[in-house]
Amino acid sequence: MSKNLVSINDLPPAGKEFVLDDQQIWLDPIREFKMDCRITEPLKMKAFVQATDEGCVVRGELTGAVVVPCNRCAENAPVAFDSKFDEYEEIPASPKQRLEDSHIVFDHNAPMLNLDEVAWEQLMLAMPPNPLCRDDCKGLCPDCGSNLNIAACECSKDEGDPRMRIFREMAAEKK
Ligand SMILES: [Zn+2]
Ligand SMILES: [Zn+2]
Repeated sequence: MSKNLVSINDLPPAGKEFVLDDQQIWLDPIREFKMDCRITEPLKMKAFVQATDEGCVVRGELTGAVVVPCNRCAENAPVAFDSKFDEYEEIPASPKQRLEDSHIVFDHNAPMLNLDEVAWEQLMLAMPPNPLCRDDCKGLCPDCGSNLNIAACECSKDEGDPRMRIFREMAAEKK
């Protein structure tokens, strides 16, 4: 993977902007985690990095688009990104320590921000938890597996569990 490592100590005091648009930054982890995710519009992260006393501030935006499986029917669900982020990265106290929510690693005692990891994390954060092919996706029939967006199946006409019929009839009589 192309490593976009930013040396925190070498950042200008006013900060610096980085643009990441090598698709491999996202394609590598997509493959590694065997994610069903296809890039349909090139992903791009702009990140402005400014050093602070104990870390750095990363501000930027992620744009692009992907297609993932719909949460209800598994057909293509398009997801477009236009998200802004603003986060703080802390420098671990010692080169041996690795902070869980920090993407700063040491290279010969120099703290380096791994922007590739930030770019991947931002994609994951921007991903909707419940992607849908369309807002009113009807999903799959739990009985026969038919895609109900395409056609209604026979199951929906079924009266349900025959053992429960007596209760349904009693309920109907009371009305
Ligand atoms: Zn769907
Ligand atoms: Zn069905």
